[in-house]
Amino acid sequence: MKLIFEKTVKGRDGYSLPQDLFDDIRIEECLPEYAINKGKKLLSEVSEVDVVRHFTKLSKLNYGLDDGIYPLGSCTMKYNPKINEKLASLGNFIYAHPLAPEETVQGCLEIIYDLNKLLCEITGMDEYTMGPAAGAHGELAGILIMRKYFVDHGDIRHKMLIPDSAHGTNPASAAMGGFQVVEVKSNEKGTVDLEELAKLMDEDTVGLMLTNPNTVGLYDEGIEEIEKIVHGKGGLLYYDGANLNASLGIIRPGDAGFDVVHLNLHKTFSTPHGGGGPGAGVIGVKKDLIPYLPTPNVTFNSNQKKYYLSDTGEKSIGMVRAFWANFSVLVKTYTWILSMGPDGLYNTSETSIINANYVLAKLKKYYKPAYDRYCGHECTVTGREYKKYGVKTLDIAKRIMDYGMHPPTIYFPHFEPYAEETIMVEPPESESKETLDKFIDIMIKISDEAKTNPELLTTAPHNTPIRRTNDALAIKRAILTYDDELKLKDELKYQEKDIDF
Ligand SMILES: *Cc1c(COP(=O)(O)O)cnc(C)c1O
Repeated sequence: MKLIFEKTVKGRDGYSLPQDLFDDIRIEECLPEYAINKGKKLLSEVSEVDVVRHFTKLSKLNYGLDDGIYPLGSCTMKYNPKINEKLASLGNFIYAHPLAPEETVQGCLEIIYDLNKLLCEITGMDEYTMGPAAGAHGELAGILIMRKYFVDHGDIRHKMLIPDSAHGTNPASAAMGGFQVVEVKSNEKGTVDLEELAKLMDEDTVGLMLTNPNTVGLYDEGIEEIEKIVHGKGGLLYYDGANLNASLGIIRPGDAGFDVVHLNLHKTFSTPHGGGGPGAGVIGVKKDLIPYLPTPNVTFNSNQKKYYLSDTGEKSIGMVRAFWANFSVLVKTYTWILSMGPDGLYNTSETSIINANYVLAKLKKYYKPAYDRYCGHECTVTGREYKKYGVKTLDIAKRIMDYGMHPPTIYFPHFEPYAEETIMVEPPESESKETLDKFIDIMIKISDEAKTNPELLTTAPHNTPIRRTNDALAIKRAILTYDDELKLKDELKYQEKDIDF
């Protein structure tokens, strides 16, 4: 398919206005010198209809949640009701300026304040901050809070414990926060090895970062024991809340003893994500940690009945994001929580857990589970039996695309011996039984193809506009200019099908 630049026709314009309209206007009098284009064509020369058709066709090559299931494990790609978008787009929200006098934006501040209270109630924490823009950003802020807490108490600690199953952002954030990362091995059930944890947890350790259900999709029943071990040595417990879609109304991290929590509002709380944002990785803390929260935060003065954007105080770790953070995500979250209600939130998690266990039960004959037990809101199976036919999990994923579906997460988690050639399926609550059955049928069909016609898989996808991509090329040969693109295109002789654009 051609780039918009390749569709240039010399002299073609995006508009045509009556010639005499500008007769009286001298461009030099209207624009500063630097803004005047002196004959150099920087943009493609195409008409308006060329542009509209180009981008409409391009958008049809895409696959998104409005097309079908997006069962990526560890991502919670649920359908996001359009009412969230509609309310977040109300004029009073989108035109509110963060520097507007507080009395003119009371409604916006009230939403941030109320959302804080709702999230406290849902997770059992004492106070939230809306600052961080993503889960990883929330992790870093949470870790800096933990660090400041210990420094403030004259208790200097250097290590952070992280299970081997953790999401990669956990060790990255701990290292950025200045800590030495110590890995805790999983046991044969796929959860934290308690003996190993007891051995590693000492007075030089800040605490443990835990995801529960963990990133393999398994609930860690050892949580009470884990809490005793970590708090017993004066440590703090960090909850990676990316998997909260399995916990709403069922278990609250605050009740389980966690001291710091981050939530991925763009995952659990129904904001479209992927492709880079915007998201919100809000963090909640227990009472003792409130003074260290990032600044500013929204407070309510009950005498004046007014909301304020207030400085958090001198112990704060400082600012992680300006003003109201990613406000539109907060409005969508608020809308979603209110439109679900407490029972709806509980049903969300219950349904997502049932969905994942249904998929697991139906697939386990064809794809061996990494751990043979009930799962949380996502299940991990493996494609390792098909290696003997020369088929990798990657080939299975590519073949799924031929059937018009988005593949699940693959090769994550990837610690052997249990989790190897993994396929991680997260079928969120928004997917119907019919959709799940369709996905299951495709997976079973592919398992048969792997045995009888492996080449169909190793050369897949066949039906997509772009065939198998070179995954590492984008890092090795970044395309920053049109010339880069042309050079590379020449070298590689793109495998794309000829689509007449
Ligand atoms: C998605 C995820 C993260 C990171 O969150 P981002 O919003 O992508 O930065 C951290 N931990 C787990 C378990 C996740 O699934």
